[in-house]
Amino acid sequence: MDSNSLKASNIRRLEGKAALITGGASGIGESTARLFVRHGAKVLIADIQDELGNSICQQLGTQETISYVHCDVTSDSDVRNAVDLAVSKYGKLDIMFNNAGVGNAEASVVDADIENFKKVVDINLFGGFLGAKHAARVMIPAKKGCILFTASVSSVLGGAVGYSYAASKHALVGLAKSLCVELGQHGIRVNCISPFVLATPLSREVFMGMEKEKLESVAYKAGNLKGKVLDSEDVAEAVLYLASDESKYVSGINLLIDGGYSITNASLPMTIQSLMS
Ligand code: NAD
Repeated sequence: MDSNSLKASNIRRLEGKAALITGGASGIGESTARLFVRHGAKVLIADIQDELGNSICQQLGTQETISYVHCDVTSDSDVRNAVDLAVSKYGKLDIMFNNAGVGNAEASVVDADIENFKKVVDINLFGGFLGAKHAARVMIPAKKGCILFTASVSSVLGGAVGYSYAASKHALVGLAKSLCVELGQHGIRVNCISPFVLATPLSREVFMGMEKEKLESVAYKAGNLKGKVLDSEDVAEAVLYLASDESKYVSGINLLIDGGYSITNASLPMTIQSLMS
């Protein structure tokens, strides 16, 4: 079955599941919310963009199938409240998708803005930790669950974007591995997804407000895999796989969605080429 006929088919891979998606008002989180609802999940979007989050819910379904809660992922009480709301609305929490994040364009480490470094780590790493902490609290008694984090290609590489971002995303993978070990005995799977650059409000801001088409063309040129441009729906498909029972024995992985970018290193052929020309 090709991907279009799979999309058009009636197979609902998350029927009866309840999911909480942080950063669900935009980009990867929004695309994942749309896909999850199409696959039969009940979804709670948790974000700080209230208007956007509420309008997505209105587009996608009824209060019984999708709703929004204001939640700053750096606030323990906000995250606790979001998890408890998902359980009170839907009776349980099967999938916790810790996806909220911020990017960062940085100057040299010598001129580092200390508060900015702390902010990036606070949202990208500590926010994910709080999500996992509160999700585990309700998943352990249920003896099942799926915790996911959006890391990045910057979880395995340095230098692609800022060091605070790379540090936070590397650490997220370490957190996921540790929790995979601790929570495995309770039937809970823990995984990361790590996309290459795709055009969202976050990445456009990092690349100085670059237009969507321009950023896509930059990513295409830099990318390893040709003939395709990564978008948030592609990432959502990978999240769907890790959230569904099709991946029931997959835990502790960092799934790179980067078209092979992170295993290439073009510097040697480029250097040789420049010497020969
Ligand atoms: P996006 O800007 O479209 O979405 C990020 C969402 O996170 C927004 O809705 C924002 O309001 C929310 N958010 C930010 N701070 C928050 C907070 N304190 N509490 C709650 N919500 C908060 O960007 P995106 O690209 O879809 O980002 C989603 C995730 O994907 C991030 O973790 C990002 O690091 C990661 N990622 C993005 C790319 C890319 O190129 N766009 C590549 C790899 C990984």
